[in-house]
Amino acid sequence: MEQNLRITDYFGCYVFGDDAMQKYMDATTYAELKEVIDKNRPLSSDLANRVADAMKEWALDNGATHYTHWFQPLTGTTAEKHDAFISVDKSGHAILEFTGKTLSKGEADASSFPSGGIRATFEARGYTAWDCSSPAFIKKNKNGVGIMYIPTAFCSYNGEALDKKTPLLRSMEALSREAKRLLHILGIVCDKVIPSVGGEQEYFLIDKDDYKKRTDLRFTGRTLFGAMPPKGQEKNDQYYASIRERVGLFMAELNEDLWKLGITAKTQHNEVAPAQHELAPIFSSANIATDQNQLIMETMKKVADKYNLTCLLHEKPFANVNGSGKHNNWSITTDTGINLLKPGKNPSENKVFLLFFTAVIAAIDEYADLVRMSASNPGNEFRLGGNEAPPSIISVYIGDDLEDTLNAIEDGRTVDIAKQRIETGVSYVAPLSKDASDRNRTSPVAFTGNKFEFRMVGSSATLANPNTTFNTIVAEMISRISSQLEGISSQDELDKKVVGIIKTLYKQHKRIIYKGNNYSREWVREAKRRGLVNIDNCIDAYETLLDKKNIALFEKHKVYNKKELASRHEIYLDNYVKTYNIEALTMLTIVSREIMPAVVRYEGELALGVRTLREVNTKLGSVQSALLADVDTLLQQLKYHYETLENAHAVASKAGDVKKQAYIYRDQVIPAMNELRNVSDKLENIIPKNVWPFPTYADILFYE
Ligand code: ADP
Ligand code: MG
Repeated sequence: MEQNLRITDYFGCYVFGDDAMQKYMDATTYAELKEVIDKNRPLSSDLANRVADAMKEWALDNGATHYTHWFQPLTGTTAEKHDAFISVDKSGHAILEFTGKTLSKGEADASSFPSGGIRATFEARGYTAWDCSSPAFIKKNKNGVGIMYIPTAFCSYNGEALDKKTPLLRSMEALSREAKRLLHILGIVCDKVIPSVGGEQEYFLIDKDDYKKRTDLRFTGRTLFGAMPPKGQEKNDQYYASIRERVGLFMAELNEDLWKLGITAKTQHNEVAPAQHELAPIFSSANIATDQNQLIMETMKKVADKYNLTCLLHEKPFANVNGSGKHNNWSITTDTGINLLKPGKNPSENKVFLLFFTAVIAAIDEYADLVRMSASNPGNEFRLGGNEAPPSIISVYIGDDLEDTLNAIEDGRTVDIAKQRIETGVSYVAPLSKDASDRNRTSPVAFTGNKFEFRMVGSSATLANPNTTFNTIVAEMISRISSQLEGISSQDELDKKVVGIIKTLYKQHKRIIYKGNNYSREWVREAKRRGLVNIDNCIDAYETLLDKKNIALFEKHKVYNKKELASRHEIYLDNYVKTYNIEALTMLTIVSREIMPAVVRYEGELALGVRTLREVNTKLGSVQSALLADVDTLLQQLKYHYETLENAHAVASKAGDVKKQAYIYRDQVIPAMNELRNVSDKLENIIPKNVWPFPTYADILFYE
């Protein structure tokens, strides 16, 4: 990037956003398209043609040769297939073509994407449909050649969702519909209500040379072996620490690339674990935030490479230091700009806020199993339910002020919580206004001033699932509230009824509110007493998708039908099995081809040493001999646990049914993997550094 350019000079230069639209479309086309986007109106074929024309011109001017319908299949990543703009006319001349039809609808041979039984094998076609509310963008390679990306939803011939995006869009519609209905009753007019999302992305950066030497990282994204170095994260000296040069250069280039893609990369800092960092953009609508988060992850990987770094997005790349999450900040805003979860100066007077706020709390309590489910993937197993943030029990932290407010409403008292000030005690430091809630870093869902922060989501996961869930469960609660309020004509009665609903919802669901330490054993006991959901593993979480109450919820709001839920259940189980299959095989390979040979060689050296020393003097060599015995004992254990894992893996492979397999992985394979690792880590600690076959945690986490 040229020196001294301002961010605003190039922000969004590769996005077909408002500026580009206005430049490449006539005023009528622009206005019509805005109407479609802002008001969810259908897109006519005539308009699609005009828009396609403008997009083509813009793309060609920006060096694009191809376009692609970009979608998010159920693998959780993104998919693309490029088509060149080139075509031939009747006389065989090359022309550049991009029509409304190609813009709005694509066809992909979907047979290799997971469908979980939705798509019959004879019907391999899948369709991609333009999501015009998420802008198209251009990705350029280092030679300046670009591909135009069109965000799309991916469906089967019968319109069943084969992706993560379609249910998200449906849930946004459900939330908008229900929130508008409630707002209408409350006398607030708007055209659309939008869930806003800000996803904070945690990640690790490690040296690429180390990465290449670790078979486990290359195949599974996490270390399957590794003893703790003498220093970990215990001093918290990495959190918010000054950012070193190489990482700083990476961050600068990452930001620049993201800004060009119209992504508002805003905050960056070092995280708790060594080599861990975070990036947060400014929030946007849920579907755009979801798309952009995919781009953030992709760009992180790409840019890291340039600095001989590797970006790890796995939830738990290293045992015994913090893993990575993705905090999902979620709120609801009207198209007129009102954040419905903003308490304002005096929340006890703000009935609209209180109604929506208690609706969210009630939704999280009633559908806690789905909330847990929405953050479940194999990588996250090592965070949730492990002894790390956040725990697998769903609870909500709302802060003392709001708890006081709701308690008072429940008791029929009045409270006045005007904004308090924090006095710093330093005369020249201005007093700070106090947020409506403090932070409780241990809570899985925390209300942080004007949004709910859901902290369970895994770092590698798409934001689509948690937001589909939040949108739907809250739509349901709001819908129930509206049903109680509809038909009341007098304002006085309406006001009373609103207070009554807030009171009842709070009373029924306040068991989900918790302000203590979520990591404590005491909380596990207390939560059990309160009857809260505590699902501590993925497989049980996946089962919630087949629960009657949950199927009814998703069907009612037309987010998923029963078949779509069953297909997801199957795909998740399948993915779980495949993930641990790869991990188990990787471990076996590393042990047999890297660790065992190294240990065997070392034993040989020790044995030779003992013999030579004893030849010199029979009294010599006692330490060597003792060490040899220790190493040999561990080597025997290693062999034993290797075989146990091999057997468990064989049992799982033969189980046939995917659900049975998943249980065998959970109950037999994973424990065997842990045992094998344990022994290996002990060996690592007594074996010379130069003998150990790959870089250790000390090398990787504290690289130069
Ligand atoms: P915190 O320090 O509590 O994490 P930040 O202000 O740093 O809060 O915000 C964290 C993330 O939350 C950012 O991505 C931010 O854009 C996002 N955020 C802020 N307000 C909202 C909102 N109303 N809806 C959704 N996300 C929001
Ligand atoms: Mg935060």
